Amino acid sequence: MEIRYRRPRGTRDVMLEEMERWRDCEERWRRVLERFGFGEIRTPLIESTDLFVRSVGEGTDVVDKEMYSFQSKGGENLTLRPEATASVVRAYLENGLTRQPGTMKFYYMGPMFRYDRPQAGRYRQFHQVGVEAIGSSSPVLDAEVIRTALALFEDVGAENLNVQVNTIGCKVCRPAYVESLQSWAREIRSRFCETCQARMETNPLRLFDCKEEGCGELLAGFDPIDQSVCADCSSHHGRVIEALDALEVTYHADPLLVRGLDYYTRTTFEISARNDTRQSALCGGGRYDELVEQCGGPSTPAVGFSVGVERVLQHLWPEPVDPQRSRQSLVDVMMVCLDQPAQIHALRHADRLREFCRVEVDTTGRGIKAQIKGGNTRGASIVLLAGSDEVAAGLFQMKTLATGDQVAVTVEALSAAVREVLES
Ligand code: AMP
Repeated sequence: MEIRYRRPRGTRDVMLEEMERWRDCEERWRRVLERFGFGEIRTPLIESTDLFVRSVGEGTDVVDKEMYSFQSKGGENLTLRPEATASVVRAYLENGLTRQPGTMKFYYMGPMFRYDRPQAGRYRQFHQVGVEAIGSSSPVLDAEVIRTALALFEDVGAENLNVQVNTIGCKVCRPAYVESLQSWAREIRSRFCETCQARMETNPLRLFDCKEEGCGELLAGFDPIDQSVCADCSSHHGRVIEALDALEVTYHADPLLVRGLDYYTRTTFEISARNDTRQSALCGGGRYDELVEQCGGPSTPAVGFSVGVERVLQHLWPEPVDPQRSRQSLVDVMMVCLDQPAQIHALRHADRLREFCRVEVDTTGRGIKAQIKGGNTRGASIVLLAGSDEVAAGLFQMKTLATGDQVAVTVEALSAAVREVLES
């Protein structure tokens, strides 16, 4: 067979048993998020390019290198969303929600697009589940949002996690810090790696992201940002830490944690898997008290996070599902049919069973044994067999797979009989 078309690099097909894992996590996450008071929001996958350039920020990898941007036929400059916070803030403003009382709490789930170098755990189309809580500057909300992220992990059984928390200041205190970091770094420019030499010009704070040992050693000679924030930011940070302690959240203060997106202010945090070495970041978040205003709205504090769905699934199930070995979706009843009239007989009676259980009608025309085996692999509890005799008599042979018992059941008695077995 010649495979003519392949998916674009850095994208994945999710199907069969892997899809079931995704669905299970997504359903659990919805329930958790709704229990924490978040309501779902769905925004377009395309937004105006400018929204991301302004919010995520020029000089960030996402904007400078990773956006899928294009011009539509109508001449609009659009971008496939690389993240969702900017979109949620845009939607918050565009739909007039600034007048709503209290904190607006949204959650989202869906695909994001970044033209990144694909590798294990890093894709060009990946999925995030995240929250945005807009309208409160309380440090307790920061702690509550971190607690929400942890609840998502707990609910799917993700363990061995590391929570790192930091503060990166605000528009009052950060510019002076960044400026002094930049001039210090420029003086010893040649001792930094090439990436850092570029970063010190475009986004100096991200020097702290460098994994090169040499750069790390150099940076140890410069006070990290948490030491240099203003009194308000420092007090906010102290109260976040107090709230985390009160909520008994285990975390590490990490003064070197800066995040890759420009809109963060004050609290930043990351949750990573302790034992995975590469691409271990499962969740990133923080406060963005200036973003709403920057997008044209009134000054409105906000905080949120985003979890990488693929990364969590990989953490939970390190072995990938092989689609060729994967079974199809589970069913409760498999209808095994000897010929075409039997298939029609089965289809006519399947609907009533489908009111309360999952039913598959085998229309392949293959041998009975193969059809029954198919029922077994799909997890069926019951096989209903029909051939010409059953069609003529208006019945099915009902085989209970756990016991091997087989009885003839009339079509009138079918629902009750199936229900009884399934409920036993
Ligand atoms: P960010 O939006 O960059 O703060 O990322 C939040 C989370 O999304 C990260 O912690 C990762 O789990 C996940 N993530 C970010 N970029 C990618 C990618 N290219 N592929 C897969 N997951 C990603």
